[in-house]
Amino acid sequence: MSDSLMDKIVSLCKRRGFVFPGSEIYGGFANSYTYGPYGVTLKNNIKALWWRKFVQDRDDVVGIDGPIIIHPKVWEASGHATGFNDAMVDCKNCKKRFRADHLVEAATGQDLEGKLDEMKAVLDAQVKCPNCGKQNWTDVRNFNMMFKTQLNTTDGAAEEVAYLRPETAGAIFIEFKNVVDSSRVKIPFGIAQIGKAFRNEIVAGNFIFRLREFEQMEIEYFIRPDAEWEPIFDGWLKLQEEFARELGAKQEALRRYEHPKEKLSFYSKKTVDIEYDFPFGGFKELFGLAHRTDYDLTNHAKFSGQDLSYFDPATNERFIPHVIEPTFGLDRCILTSLLAAYNEEPTGEAGETRVVMKFPKNLAPVKVAVFPLLKNKPDLVAKAQEIHSALRKSFVCEFDDNGNVGKRYRRQDEIGTPYCITVDFDTLENGTVTVRDRDTMQQERVAIADLKDWIAKGLES
Ligand code: ATP
Repeated sequence: MSDSLMDKIVSLCKRRGFVFPGSEIYGGFANSYTYGPYGVTLKNNIKALWWRKFVQDRDDVVGIDGPIIIHPKVWEASGHATGFNDAMVDCKNCKKRFRADHLVEAATGQDLEGKLDEMKAVLDAQVKCPNCGKQNWTDVRNFNMMFKTQLNTTDGAAEEVAYLRPETAGAIFIEFKNVVDSSRVKIPFGIAQIGKAFRNEIVAGNFIFRLREFEQMEIEYFIRPDAEWEPIFDGWLKLQEEFARELGAKQEALRRYEHPKEKLSFYSKKTVDIEYDFPFGGFKELFGLAHRTDYDLTNHAKFSGQDLSYFDPATNERFIPHVIEPTFGLDRCILTSLLAAYNEEPTGEAGETRVVMKFPKNLAPVKVAVFPLLKNKPDLVAKAQEIHSALRKSFVCEFDDNGNVGKRYRRQDEIGTPYCITVDFDTLENGTVTVRDRDTMQQERVAIADLKDWIAKGLES
């Protein structure tokens, strides 16, 4: 994989309506993106896959959808107000801003997270500005990544500072009691949420990999404090890897990175990142899994003054549960599925290649495209429209009569549509159509009456 693959993905995303650069008509707005018509469908399909796998298909996980702006005390209790910092440094010469820890790590392989003076010493001794080549650094400072906003209080006289949530987890912990009291969950159980999170990243970039506004899919999985947690933790790791493969990632492009003991947050028993081999700089975090002990519930109990203990009817005991947190970045899932799906291959015609997005079929934004062989033959067009109308009740379908059939195939290949149906003169005579398979380019004649079942079966394979 290479950086040029990223260029190809970025350009395909714009050309075909997966992802547009944000605010383009105003000259662009750095690091903001809009998911276009196919991008939003891909995104919804990934969310649906996740929800189905981790909520709907399980007896022990329930979902919530909490607000983005929640009580500011939540972030005091969670430690974000004081501790959610990245190390920032500026080049005094060209004024460009960098993550100091990233520069140090790239130059020396050292992880000096939190040690601002030591980072500064390394920068002064051996790191030149990647932008201008000079070595003239400001001090390394901590920068809090939470976005602040103001709320009008009810009397309108004063404004209160609040934050856009930097992760979705906070909204889950504060509803722990409500979920326990209102649903029939019994420990061990999880609460899941999908939603937006906001981080004022010092350096965003690499397309949709690091954004300031992004989506997370998170689960807080509560267990007894004395539970044998290792197998549970390992089970979640395996499920996370399985999910990455369901996005299309190859196993060899995935690896686990266990945070060394000295780097772990003081409350965490174990933290592992699932990394994907991205074309920019290799393995980087795709998902995370952390054992967070009782840190969150204990702190929210302390800061809110509420009892967040759990009564276990099986043992007649009351305790603060421990929690294992699998977290998934939705935008990174989308990027992974785009990268993994991208293929360039010969079409079989002399010297011709095609770009084809081989998404897992359940994720493909469009499942079926229907074409009349010729645009100017009303009988063919009417029949194709009839088939399209019937199929769209069951599948996301597109009708296309633009250009020639070869051009239409190329467009659908770039969108990743598993099946293209062509209505031709034989259709009018014998009631069959040609179905062309995205991956093999093989064509098969299928009776119109059998189409729905044929496609449904194909999409399951
Ligand atoms: P990184 O080390 O890449 O900054 P992180 O360790 O801060 O990530 P977490 O706090 O564990 O990330 O967030 C959970 C998940 O949210 C990550 O695994 C990632 O997929 C996603 N994520 C985090 N920050 C961003 C971002 N700025 N843009 C897009 N996705 C993000």
